[in-house]
This record gives sequence, C-alpha cells and structure tokens, in this order.
Amino acid sequence: MTKTPAKTTKTSTLTAKPQSDYGLSIVVPVFNEAKGLSGLHERIAEVARFLHSKYELAIEVIYVDDGSADDTSHVARGLPAISLDVQVVTLSRNFGKEAALLAGLDHARLGAVMFMDGDGQHPPSLIETLVKRWLEDGYDVVYTAKAHRENESWARRTMVHWFYWLLNWRARLKIPEDAGDFRLLSPRAADALRQMPERNRFFKGLSSWIGFRQVRVDYEPAAREHGVTTWNFWSLLGLSIEGLTSFSVAPLRVASLLGVVMAASALFFGLWIVGETVLFGEDVPGYPSLVVGLMVLGGVQLMMIGVLGEYIGKLLSEIKGRPVYFVADHALKSADEAEAPAAATDRSE
Ligand code: UDP
Ligand code: MG
Repeated sequence: MTKTPAKTTKTSTLTAKPQSDYGLSIVVPVFNEAKGLSGLHERIAEVARFLHSKYELAIEVIYVDDGSADDTSHVARGLPAISLDVQVVTLSRNFGKEAALLAGLDHARLGAVMFMDGDGQHPPSLIETLVKRWLEDGYDVVYTAKAHRENESWARRTMVHWFYWLLNWRARLKIPEDAGDFRLLSPRAADALRQMPERNRFFKGLSSWIGFRQVRVDYEPAAREHGVTTWNFWSLLGLSIEGLTSFSVAPLRVASLLGVVMAASALFFGLWIVGETVLFGEDVPGYPSLVVGLMVLGGVQLMMIGVLGEYIGKLLSEIKGRPVYFVADHALKSADEAEAPAAATDRSE
C-alpha cells in the first residue's frame, strides 16, 4: 500500500495531480566522475533555484559515490549547498549503478525522486520539463527516452531491439524500448518503488512495473563530458540477462516451445523412417543424421540448462538476502545552514 496524504496542491485543479508541497530528491550515481562534478552541480543548482521560485519546490541532490577510485567523494563533499540540500553517500566499494540508484532512493527525503547520470549525458536543463509533467500534468512516472539512436552501431541497435522484443514477448506489461534511467517518480511512485523487495534490480523495469500514470519525454543525450563509459559489450550483456530474468520468463518459454518443436519433428521423422522401411524397404540412412541429431539435441539441452541456471542463481541470491550495498560515509549539507540569503539573491537571474 502506498501512502498518499490527502492534501491538495496549489498549482492545479486536476484530481490526479501529485502533491507539490513535497520536494524533489535528485539521485546522481557517480563513479569516477570527479572532473565534471562541480560543473554538473552548478547546473543542477541553477535549475533548483528556478524550480524553487516557480513551484516553491524544495530540492535536494544526492550524490552516491559508488566506490570511485578518484576523489569524487571529496569533490562532492566540497560542493556548495546553495538553494538545495546536498547529500553525499559514499558506498563501501563499487556495487554497480543499480545498487547506487537504490542507495540514493533509500536516502531520498523529499518525496518525489529523480534519477540522473553524473556524467553530464542527462542534461539538467531537462529537469524542468520532467517536473512540469509531474506537477502540471499529474504524471507519476516521467521517463526519458533517446530520441535518436543513429549514432550507435547497427549491431548495438539490433541487439537492443531484440532484447526488448524478448523482454516484452507476451508480457502483460511492456517495458518501453529506449527508455533510460533518467526519470522522475512522484512521491507515491517512489514509495511503490521502495516496496519492491528484490535484490537483483533493474530500475527501468521496476519503475515501469509499478504502474500509475506514466509518460515519455524524448531527449538527445549529450556527449559524455569526461572519462569513458563504464559499459562494454559484456557488462551490457550482463545487464540484459539481469533484466530478462528479472522481468520475464520468456527464456523458459522459449525452452519449452523449442522442446515441443523438436519432439514433434523427431516424432514425424521417426514415423517417416518407419513408413519408408515398411513400405519401400529402404535402408535407414546411417550415422551422419544420427550424429547431427544428437549434437542438436545436446546443444539445445545444454543451452536450456544454462537458462535454468540463470533463474536458479537469481533465486539463490534473493534467498541469501544480502544487503544490496553498504554505506561507508554519509554527509548532509542543508541549504538553510549553508545559504546566506544575500548569496542566494546574488546568484538568481
Ligand atoms: N556508475 C556508477 N557505478 C558504476 C558504473 C557507473 O554509479 O559501477 C554511474 C556513472 O558515474 C554515471 C552513470 O552511472 O553517472 C552512468 O554510467 P555510464 O556513463 O558509464 O553509462 P552510459 O551512460 O554509458 O550508459
Ligand atoms: Mg553515460
């Protein structure tokens, strides 16, 4: 059950409208992003100032340092809390982006939650659009999707396409293709997300699974400002398997279907041979067909055991019930303490 306090908002008459007297927590996972962080923070703070004056929305930003090897954590702690609260959550090691997002969600205090990359690829200028869709149009999940993928290789686009096809195959709930992690969740949607107990997390899928009113916003991802992406073919494959096995039993269904098809063709082939021998007295063809048959069967079986193994592995890790991350350090700078009123007016346009 979600908690939805029965308060009315000041900015609209829509009944489905979320509560604007909540604030917005912006979760930014950062892994070795020391170089671009202060620039990004400045842009976020600027948007925060604007949102504060337009909607009277309190804003906080939560930098989750996912075990960076550079001085990301140090830089984050030095960031000024002007017009917004700044939290820095330092994880005890690199747990991966999905875990960092969860850590951010757990530390968010203001109701609505936004997830945003720390490498500048998710333009802070879009924050205002997302907030507008939430506050003025009453959407609970405002997710962004890449407007174009032309700059990506053909192979990658095809793989992404097939991944989503398999993921959504016969699924009652379709996870939108191209949707990114850059998204805003209203307080009740964020609450719902918090109640999802699984340890193997696939945020895009989870935030689409919870339902409520969802809307898509197209955007052009910016180029990475510093450093290189941490994703390569293998880590993307890992995430895809993670997503598939968390959200769909399609691979298991493929296994069953394949089994049925193979058994049926074996039956027909058998009948055919019997018929040929009885009716025409022909020789049964020799070893090659037998060997091919055996290899196909063996290969398919091994593959499907692998698929089963994925699900069993997932069960095991869920049953172990380990925490998804550990926090080594946590710092909070409140805007009220740090902000001299004069400084705030100085910086506003
Ligand atoms: N990230 C993280 N932990 C990791 C890898 C990445 O917190 O183990 C963060 C990273 O700092 C960035 C975001 O996740 O803010 C997206 O990472 P990246 O840019 O490498 O992915 P891409 O944009 O290529 O999907
Ligand atoms: Mg990136």
